[in-house]
Amino acid sequence: LASRENHPENSVVQVGDIQIGGKSATIIAGPCSVESRDSYVEIAIELQKAGAQILRGGAYKPRTSPYSFQGMGEEGLRIMAEASDITGLPTISEVMDVETLPLVAHYVDILQIGARNMQNYPLLKAVGKTKKPVMLKRGLANTIEEWLMSAEYILSAGNPSVILCERGIRTFETATRFTLDLNAVPVIRKLSHLPILIDPSHGTGHSGYVPALSRAAIAVGADGIMVEVHSNPAEALSDGPQSLTVEEFRRLAPHIHQLSDFC
Ligand code: PEP
Ligand code: MN
Repeated sequence: LASRENHPENSVVQVGDIQIGGKSATIIAGPCSVESRDSYVEIAIELQKAGAQILRGGAYKPRTSPYSFQGMGEEGLRIMAEASDITGLPTISEVMDVETLPLVAHYVDILQIGARNMQNYPLLKAVGKTKKPVMLKRGLANTIEEWLMSAEYILSAGNPSVILCERGIRTFETATRFTLDLNAVPVIRKLSHLPILIDPSHGTGHSGYVPALSRAAIAVGADGIMVEVHSNPAEALSDGPQSLTVEEFRRLAPHIHQLSDFC
Protein backbone atom coordinates (compact mmCIF):
# COMPACT_ATOMS: atom_id res chain seq x y z
CA LEU A 1 0.00 0.00 0.00
CA ALA A 2 2.96 2.33 0.61
CA SER A 3 4.49 1.42 -2.73
CA ARG A 4 4.45 3.71 -5.73
CA GLU A 5 3.89 0.74 -8.02
CA ASN A 6 0.12 0.65 -7.68
CA HIS A 7 -0.17 4.34 -6.81
CA PRO A 8 1.85 6.43 -9.27
CA GLU A 9 0.72 9.88 -8.13
CA ASN A 10 1.94 11.45 -4.87
CA SER A 11 -0.43 11.23 -1.91
CA VAL A 12 -1.58 14.40 -0.23
CA VAL A 13 -2.53 14.36 3.45
CA GLN A 14 -5.11 17.00 4.26
CA VAL A 15 -5.02 18.55 7.76
CA GLY A 16 -7.67 21.25 8.07
CA ASP A 17 -6.92 23.53 5.12
CA ILE A 18 -3.25 22.49 4.94
CA GLN A 19 -2.05 19.97 2.41
CA ILE A 20 1.03 17.93 3.29
CA GLY A 21 2.51 16.65 0.06
CA GLY A 22 0.81 19.29 -2.06
CA LYS A 23 2.45 21.99 -4.14
CA SER A 24 4.09 23.98 -1.36
CA ALA A 25 6.25 22.96 1.58
CA THR A 26 4.69 22.70 5.03
CA ILE A 27 6.41 24.09 8.11
CA ILE A 28 5.72 22.44 11.45
CA ALA A 29 7.25 24.36 14.37
CA GLY A 30 7.13 24.50 18.14
CA PRO A 31 9.04 23.57 21.25
CA CYS A 32 10.23 20.02 21.84
CA SER A 33 7.98 19.82 24.94
CA VAL A 34 5.00 21.80 26.13
CA GLU A 35 6.36 23.35 29.35
CA SER A 36 3.59 25.67 30.58
CA ARG A 37 0.34 27.19 29.33
CA ASP A 38 1.60 30.75 29.00
CA SER A 39 4.90 29.93 27.32
CA TYR A 40 3.20 27.61 24.81
CA VAL A 41 0.37 29.97 23.88
CA GLU A 42 2.82 32.84 23.53
CA ILE A 43 5.21 30.97 21.21
CA ALA A 44 2.30 29.53 19.22
CA ILE A 45 1.09 33.05 18.40
CA GLU A 46 4.62 34.16 17.43
CA LEU A 47 5.16 31.09 15.24
CA GLN A 48 1.84 31.54 13.48
CA LYS A 49 2.74 35.15 12.65
CA ALA A 50 6.20 34.04 11.46
CA GLY A 51 4.86 31.49 8.95
CA ALA A 52 4.43 28.19 10.78
CA GLN A 53 1.47 26.16 9.51
CA ILE A 54 1.27 23.42 12.12
CA LEU A 55 2.20 23.56 15.82
CA ARG A 56 4.32 20.85 17.41
CA GLY A 57 4.75 20.09 21.11
CA GLY A 58 5.48 17.02 23.19
CA ALA A 59 3.22 16.08 26.08
CA TYR A 60 4.49 12.51 26.46
CA LYS A 61 8.26 12.52 25.99
CA PRO A 62 10.45 9.51 25.20
CA ARG A 63 13.51 10.57 27.26
CA THR A 64 16.73 8.58 27.41
CA SER A 65 16.86 9.00 31.20
CA PRO A 66 13.81 8.24 33.38
CA TYR A 67 14.92 11.17 35.58
CA SER A 68 14.59 13.73 32.75
CA PHE A 69 11.39 15.76 32.26
CA GLN A 70 8.76 13.33 30.97
CA GLY A 71 6.26 15.86 29.65
CA MET A 72 3.07 17.43 31.02
CA GLY A 73 0.78 14.61 29.88
CA GLU A 74 -2.91 15.42 29.36
CA GLU A 75 -2.43 18.98 30.64
CA GLY A 76 0.11 19.54 27.84
CA LEU A 77 -2.39 18.26 25.28
CA ARG A 78 -5.07 20.57 26.65
CA ILE A 79 -2.69 23.53 26.30
CA MET A 80 -2.00 22.59 22.69
CA ALA A 81 -5.72 22.46 21.94
CA GLU A 82 -6.11 25.93 23.43
CA ALA A 83 -3.18 27.27 21.36
CA SER A 84 -4.78 25.73 18.29
CA ASP A 85 -8.09 27.52 19.02
CA ILE A 86 -6.27 30.83 19.48
CA THR A 87 -4.03 30.62 16.39
CA GLY A 88 -6.25 28.55 14.09
CA LEU A 89 -3.29 26.20 13.46
CA PRO A 90 -3.57 22.42 13.66
CA THR A 91 -1.33 20.50 16.08
CA ILE A 92 0.91 17.45 16.19
CA SER A 93 2.07 15.55 19.27
CA GLU A 94 3.71 12.22 19.96
CA VAL A 95 1.70 9.23 21.12
CA MET A 96 3.95 6.78 22.98
CA ASP A 97 1.60 3.90 23.75
CA VAL A 98 -1.74 2.29 22.99
CA GLU A 99 -3.15 3.24 26.43
CA THR A 100 -2.85 7.01 25.92
CA LEU A 101 -3.80 6.94 22.22
CA PRO A 102 -7.49 7.86 22.75
CA LEU A 103 -6.42 10.87 24.83
CA VAL A 104 -3.82 12.12 22.34
CA ALA A 105 -6.19 11.54 19.41
CA HIS A 106 -8.87 13.54 21.21
CA TYR A 107 -6.71 16.66 21.56
CA VAL A 108 -4.42 16.84 18.51
CA ASP A 109 -4.80 16.83 14.72
CA ILE A 110 -1.80 14.67 13.77
CA LEU A 111 -0.46 11.70 15.73
CA GLN A 112 3.33 11.52 15.82
CA ILE A 113 5.00 8.12 16.10
CA GLY A 114 8.47 8.75 17.48
CA ALA A 115 11.68 7.23 16.19
CA ARG A 116 11.89 4.88 19.19
CA ASN A 117 8.45 3.50 18.43
CA MET A 118 8.83 3.02 14.70
CA GLN A 119 8.64 -0.74 15.15
CA ASN A 120 6.08 -0.80 17.96
CA TYR A 121 3.67 -2.88 15.93
CA PRO A 122 0.72 -2.87 18.35
CA LEU A 123 0.94 0.96 18.41
CA LEU A 124 1.18 1.14 14.60
CA LYS A 125 -1.92 -1.07 14.26
CA ALA A 126 -3.76 1.05 16.81
CA VAL A 127 -3.06 4.40 15.09
CA GLY A 128 -3.99 2.65 11.85
CA LYS A 129 -7.47 2.14 13.23
CA THR A 130 -7.95 5.86 13.98
CA LYS A 131 -9.05 8.45 11.45
CA LYS A 132 -6.24 10.90 12.31
CA PRO A 133 -3.26 11.57 10.05
CA VAL A 134 -0.11 9.88 11.38
CA MET A 135 3.45 11.16 11.05
CA LEU A 136 5.81 8.20 11.22
CA LYS A 137 9.38 9.07 12.14
CA ARG A 138 12.21 6.89 10.93
CA GLY A 139 13.84 4.79 13.64
CA LEU A 140 17.34 5.74 14.76
CA ALA A 141 18.79 2.56 13.27
CA ASN A 142 16.26 1.46 10.69
CA THR A 143 16.56 0.99 6.97
CA ILE A 144 14.22 2.71 4.56
CA GLU A 145 12.71 -0.67 3.74
CA GLU A 146 11.90 -1.30 7.42
CA TRP A 147 10.43 2.21 7.69
CA LEU A 148 8.14 1.60 4.72
CA MET A 149 7.03 -1.72 6.24
CA SER A 150 6.08 0.17 9.39
CA ALA A 151 4.05 2.59 7.26
CA GLU A 152 2.43 -0.49 5.72
CA TYR A 153 1.17 -1.54 9.19
CA ILE A 154 -0.70 1.76 9.54
CA LEU A 155 -2.04 1.75 5.98
CA SER A 156 -3.14 -1.87 6.12
CA ALA A 157 -5.06 -1.23 9.34
CA GLY A 158 -7.24 1.17 7.33
CA ASN A 159 -5.64 4.60 7.76
CA PRO A 160 -4.50 6.09 4.42
CA SER A 161 -3.11 9.34 5.93
CA VAL A 162 0.53 8.54 6.62
CA ILE A 163 3.33 11.13 6.48
CA LEU A 164 6.96 9.98 6.72
CA CYS A 165 9.58 12.01 8.63
CA GLU A 166 13.34 11.54 8.31
CA ARG A 167 14.97 12.65 11.58
CA GLY A 168 18.52 11.38 11.31
CA ILE A 169 20.08 7.99 11.90
CA ARG A 170 22.91 6.60 14.04
CA THR A 171 26.29 6.52 12.35
CA PHE A 172 29.90 6.64 13.59
CA GLU A 173 29.82 10.45 13.33
CA THR A 174 29.75 12.28 16.65
CA ALA A 175 30.03 15.91 15.49
CA THR A 176 26.26 15.94 15.14
CA ARG A 177 23.66 14.20 17.32
CA PHE A 178 22.45 12.04 14.43
CA THR A 179 23.29 11.95 10.72
CA LEU A 180 20.47 13.44 8.70
CA ASP A 181 19.92 11.08 5.79
CA LEU A 182 18.86 13.41 3.00
CA ASN A 183 19.23 10.46 0.62
CA ALA A 184 16.00 9.19 2.11
CA VAL A 185 13.98 11.82 0.25
CA PRO A 186 14.75 10.78 -3.35
CA VAL A 187 14.76 7.12 -2.31
CA ILE A 188 11.29 7.43 -0.76
CA ARG A 189 10.10 9.39 -3.80
CA LYS A 190 11.14 6.49 -5.99
CA LEU A 191 9.67 3.75 -3.80
CA SER A 192 6.57 5.38 -2.34
CA HIS A 193 3.78 7.88 -2.93
CA LEU A 194 3.68 8.98 0.72
CA PRO A 195 4.60 12.56 1.70
CA ILE A 196 7.97 12.97 3.40
CA LEU A 197 9.13 15.64 5.84
CA ILE A 198 12.58 16.35 7.28
CA ASP A 199 13.34 17.07 10.94
CA PRO A 200 16.66 18.98 10.88
CA SER A 201 16.49 19.64 14.65
CA HIS A 202 16.90 16.02 15.77
CA GLY A 203 18.85 15.34 12.57
CA THR A 204 21.69 17.63 13.63
CA GLY A 205 21.24 18.28 17.35
CA HIS A 206 22.64 21.82 16.97
CA SER A 207 20.50 24.87 16.26
CA GLY A 208 23.34 26.45 14.26
CA TYR A 209 23.08 23.71 11.62
CA VAL A 210 19.29 23.75 11.42
CA PRO A 211 18.77 26.58 8.88
CA ALA A 212 21.19 25.06 6.33
CA LEU A 213 19.66 21.60 6.61
CA SER A 214 16.15 23.05 6.46
CA ARG A 215 16.96 24.65 3.12
CA ALA A 216 18.65 21.44 1.98
CA ALA A 217 15.50 19.50 2.86
CA ILE A 218 13.40 21.61 0.50
CA ALA A 219 16.08 21.57 -2.20
CA VAL A 220 16.20 17.77 -2.12
CA GLY A 221 12.44 17.63 -2.59
CA ALA A 222 10.96 17.10 0.89
CA ASP A 223 7.33 18.13 1.44
CA GLY A 224 8.30 20.28 4.39
CA ILE A 225 10.18 20.47 7.66
CA MET A 226 9.49 20.03 11.34
CA VAL A 227 11.67 22.30 13.49
CA GLU A 228 12.00 22.84 17.22
CA VAL A 229 11.71 26.45 18.39
CA HIS A 230 11.94 27.73 21.96
CA SER A 231 11.56 31.22 23.41
CA ASN A 232 14.66 30.62 25.53
CA PRO A 233 16.57 27.54 24.30
CA ALA A 234 19.10 27.71 27.16
CA GLU A 235 16.28 27.09 29.64
CA ALA A 236 14.36 24.46 27.63
CA LEU A 237 13.32 21.33 29.54
CA SER A 238 14.25 19.19 26.51
CA ASP A 239 16.33 19.57 23.34
CA GLY A 240 17.41 23.18 23.99
CA PRO A 241 20.72 22.92 22.07
CA GLN A 242 18.91 22.06 18.83
CA SER A 243 16.06 24.56 19.25
CA LEU A 244 15.92 27.74 17.17
CA THR A 245 15.00 30.99 18.87
CA VAL A 246 11.81 32.64 17.66
CA GLU A 247 13.94 35.25 15.89
CA GLU A 248 15.95 32.56 14.09
CA PHE A 249 12.71 30.92 13.01
CA ARG A 250 11.37 34.24 11.78
CA ARG A 251 14.42 34.56 9.53
CA LEU A 252 14.25 30.97 8.27
CA ALA A 253 10.54 30.55 7.46
CA PRO A 254 10.35 32.93 4.45
CA HIS A 255 13.38 31.20 2.88
CA ILE A 256 11.60 27.87 3.15
CA HIS A 257 8.44 29.21 1.54
CA GLN A 258 10.44 30.92 -1.25
CA LEU A 259 12.59 27.85 -1.92
CA SER A 260 9.51 25.71 -2.06
CA ASP A 261 8.00 27.91 -4.79
CA PHE A 262 11.24 27.60 -6.70
CA CYS A 263 11.84 23.82 -6.29
C1 PEP B 1 10.56 14.82 19.06
O1 PEP B 1 10.04 15.11 17.96
O2 PEP B 1 10.67 15.63 20.00
C2 PEP B 1 11.17 13.47 19.22
C3 PEP B 1 11.26 12.89 20.41
O3 PEP B 1 11.61 12.97 18.06
P1 PEP B 1 12.30 11.54 17.73
O4 PEP B 1 11.25 10.51 17.99
O5 PEP B 1 12.64 11.66 16.27
O6 PEP B 1 13.51 11.40 18.59
MN1 MN C 1 12.78 16.92 20.69
